[in-house]
Amino acid sequence: MVTLDKETKYFSKNTLLAVELRSFFAIFATCDIPNKSNYSKQHEFMLSQKLHDALNAQVNAELWSAYLYLSMSLDAESKGLKGVANWFYVQFCEEQAHARIFMNYINSRDAKVELKPIDEVPTTWDSALDMFKETLNHERKVTALINNLAFIANEDRDFASINRINWFIDEQVEEEENARDMIQALEAVEGNKYGMYMLDKELATRTYTEPSPLQTGAE
Ligand code: MG
Repeated sequence: MVTLDKETKYFSKNTLLAVELRSFFAIFATCDIPNKSNYSKQHEFMLSQKLHDALNAQVNAELWSAYLYLSMSLDAESKGLKGVANWFYVQFCEEQAHARIFMNYINSRDAKVELKPIDEVPTTWDSALDMFKETLNHERKVTALINNLAFIANEDRDFASINRINWFIDEQVEEEENARDMIQALEAVEGNKYGMYMLDKELATRTYTEPSPLQTGAE
């Protein structure tokens, strides 16, 4: 049996402790624990400046859309088309809700919404048919803007933004379809006063429903 004197025992104990500490730090170094350089990667989870700017611009585009449809509503009212006026008033409310959804999203990503001036809109149209033709053209432009947002979010690999923008991609399909349906209906009654009277009565029944992203507990 080997016997160790007091000094040797003390030395062995310290050596063992040193080896254990070395092993511990070796394991620690292999763990994927965020260090200073990893923390800088957290910026990747923030909105990129390019996407932030594009989302801010979209808030303005949605508010401009709201203003456009309010103008159409008022013009329809002045033409005695109360149903068409109601349809565009509901559209005005929907566009404000779209702007609100984008504003909420920018805020929820810890970024700031910056409001810009809203450009003026036309104030008169020749007919309800003209209003809906302009609506379809306008919504196609909005679809292009939404697609561009999706493109930027994809480039950024920003999956939260992709999710939010996907809701708008579906919404745009519906917006274009609604405008096309209205054009078809108005073309079907063109020159028929009774047909226009009945169609206008039908449009008076449209009501505003809060879009799902703004409904509490809907998502
Ligand atoms: Mg919209």
